[in-house]
Amino acid sequence: MTGAYDDRDGKIWMDGKLIEWRDAKVHILTHALHYASAVFEGERCYDGKIFKGVEHSQRLRHSAELLDMEVPYSVEEIEAAKYAMLKANGWTNAYVRVLAWRGAGDDMGVSARRNPVRMAVAGWEWGNYYGDAKMKGAKLDISKWRRPDPLTIPSAAKASGLYMICTMSKHAAEAKGCSDALMMDYRGYVAEATGANVFFVKDGEVHTPLPDCFLNGITRQTVIAMMREKGITVHERHIEPVELAGFEQCWLTGTAAEVTPVGQIGEFRFEVGALTRDVAQSYEKLVRA
Ligand code: PMP
Repeated sequence: MTGAYDDRDGKIWMDGKLIEWRDAKVHILTHALHYASAVFEGERCYDGKIFKGVEHSQRLRHSAELLDMEVPYSVEEIEAAKYAMLKANGWTNAYVRVLAWRGAGDDMGVSARRNPVRMAVAGWEWGNYYGDAKMKGAKLDISKWRRPDPLTIPSAAKASGLYMICTMSKHAAEAKGCSDALMMDYRGYVAEATGANVFFVKDGEVHTPLPDCFLNGITRQTVIAMMREKGITVHERHIEPVELAGFEQCWLTGTAAEVTPVGQIGEFRFEVGALTRDVAQSYEKLVRA
């Protein structure tokens, strides 16, 4: 399936029913389009089962709550919608996108109390998020944009508005021939990439930023638990940018990215080492277990 995302064959679940792909439209006076009043999830279905599907549905509802929005569907109903969409398209391996947003209604100012919260579930086939980086390691730029203070925006929410920073960072990175960007946080600590969390290895131990102002990814949590089970020491802590010079290996984690080795961040280079490969392979096995 190729072509523009609004011009494909297939079905999309929208507001309680499956509709034709090309009919999944919204009005121009949709609140979310003007004020980013939307939250979403990105999930992967492997061999007919969505990995951590319930956790994603719970996070969607939680993200909405953080934005003072209530998703009008329970976790069970969201789960059913995702599988209905997959079945209608005949997919057993696909990326699943759930979006909840404030629709058009009686309000068109900043306040949106009188507008309905709507939900849609779509999907597509998405291979390696970073192309051939899975083998040789992705090249990352260092973004000038920072992850914001949680007192500025609810940074634990997977909220559409937060991705403005990510798109600007990623465009700048791509213009330099990089496949993504590493962002620092508002204090200057290492934070995350534009759609994935980051891990480093030094002397056989793993270091990853404390998710106190960015998304504590479901893949991140999965990989940390997996490594601790293997007896690998994992430090969740604030990481200074000057430390990048001393790390030997690096990888990214995310639903779309899965476990992707990183070969370079700015001027710093990393080897795609044994631990990185082991974590990537173990994750691949786990998602299909
Ligand atoms: N950070 C950002 C900014 C992301 O977009 C994602 C992908 N959802 C992640 C981290 C990783 O989250 P997860 O592992 O839950 O997909």
